Amino acid sequence: MSVSIVLFTSDLRVHDHPPLRAALRASSEVVPLFVRDTGIASAGYAAPNREAFLADCLGDLDTALRACGGRLVVRSGDVADAVAGVAAETGADAVHMAGGVSAYAQRREERLRNVLEGQGRRLVVHDSVVTAVAPGAVTPASSDHFAVFTPYFRHWSEQRLRDVLAAPRAIRVPDGVATEGTPSRARVSGTSPGLAAGGERAGRKQLTAWLRRGVAGYEDGHDDLPGDATSRLSPHLHFGTLSPVELVHRARGAGGPGADAFVRQLAWRDFHHQVLAARPAAAAHDYRTRHDRWRSERAAARDIEAWREGRTGYPVIDAAMRQLSHEGWMHNRGRLLTASFLTKTLYVDWRVGARHFLDLLVDGDIANNQLNWQWMAGTGTDSRPNRVLNPVTQAKRYDPDGAYVRRWVPELAGLAGAAVHEPWKQPGPERAKYAYPDPIVELAEGLERFRRARGLD
Ligand SMILES: Cc1cc2nc3c(=O)[nH]c(=O)nc-3n(C[C@H](O)[C@H](O)[C@H](O)COP(=O)(O)OP(=O)(O)OC[C@H]3O[C@@H](n4cnc5c(N)ncnc54)[C@H](O)[C@@H]3O)c2cc1C
Repeated sequence: MSVSIVLFTSDLRVHDHPPLRAALRASSEVVPLFVRDTGIASAGYAAPNREAFLADCLGDLDTALRACGGRLVVRSGDVADAVAGVAAETGADAVHMAGGVSAYAQRREERLRNVLEGQGRRLVVHDSVVTAVAPGAVTPASSDHFAVFTPYFRHWSEQRLRDVLAAPRAIRVPDGVATEGTPSRARVSGTSPGLAAGGERAGRKQLTAWLRRGVAGYEDGHDDLPGDATSRLSPHLHFGTLSPVELVHRARGAGGPGADAFVRQLAWRDFHHQVLAARPAAAAHDYRTRHDRWRSERAAARDIEAWREGRTGYPVIDAAMRQLSHEGWMHNRGRLLTASFLTKTLYVDWRVGARHFLDLLVDGDIANNQLNWQWMAGTGTDSRPNRVLNPVTQAKRYDPDGAYVRRWVPELAGLAGAAVHEPWKQPGPERAKYAYPDPIVELAEGLERFRRARGLD
């Protein structure tokens, strides 16, 4: 009788799960294990929205495992110690898990390997679980990672993806393995009122609906702010309730320009993961320094506060920031605009914005968040590091009738059409009717400060 452990991390599903499949092939008994890692909370990375979504995911994973005779074992503490404890209790000879990319995940894996090898057990790390194409699977001739998306995407597209694995039919868990039980979403306080539900079942339903009704319009609609026509699958990709390999296969199966554009975005996700895997320090440090001397958080305190609270006086920025706090999610165009506004128009360090996003985003992800922030700040992989997005022109283009702004900034609901994007242009008495702030900065002034700071004038 042999026992394997499957350590679930960012892969909270039973469908298309290579570690689970390998463990079931190798052993007659399997312990599906999740460790509530105390290190994540002490690193300041736990956020109520993600804790609540995680609780849904763990509950759902337990239900799925029970449906085939198993169950989820939950422990808390240091991951390496907790796994080693379960391994010693059950006499497991191997632990299977998905490879991660962040510095934290890399350290966790190394420590786990050392502890297990010290006990005479094996750690088996599986690729293409968290990403479709494993970081490092495609590299340019002269470097360990791609710094430019277009050639990366070309190579990425040529990769043959592994086949999608079915969910297991039967799992036997050794008797008597203690569990703390799955956490409850209801016990997490401080969550966003409009937070989505988590779990693999919810994710799969959403994916099916998306492929049937959404993806065909993705190419044309993905930037349409009021249309909200993106997949909203990002939290499921972050927690791994959906498999990126399966998503690519199924989207390609759906076919058409919408599906192609969607697959390209999934490649962006892999792109950022391979950058972070090769340069873990990019989570906290400029990938490419522009020698910025950002305004100090103290000097910019009022601007930062207004940005966080959605009171900058630029309606599209405020709408997006309010969507973030209400839903724990923000449309990609909103993320681009609010990040450009903070880092360029207000000239505030990208880490300040990235931190706030990570505090709220249900899909908050070190690879995607930090590297997209760096992209917008011009310290990352963008080949046009000094571009500044104008929130008024962009609002007119991506929210032409102002419906997105009116949805999130109800103070301006009385302003019809695109006039909502420039409330300051209303004549005095009309303007006074709206309890909405004046812009905290003139766009031209912000631009000049940024250009000076970057030595562009
Ligand atoms: C400043 C900033 C911060 C961001 N922070 C995060 C984050 O913490 N977590 C996160 O998952 N995404 C982040 N993104 C990327 C992107 O905004 C979200 O993935 C997307 O808005 C999620 O919505 P969706 O699932 O409807 O995306 P869709 O448009 O339906 O795209 C499908 C999937 O492709 C991936 N994807 C799409 N755009 C990107 C991108 N630019 N970079 C990497 N992957 C992408 C996501 O996994 C997404 O779910 C950030 C972007 C910016 C500009």
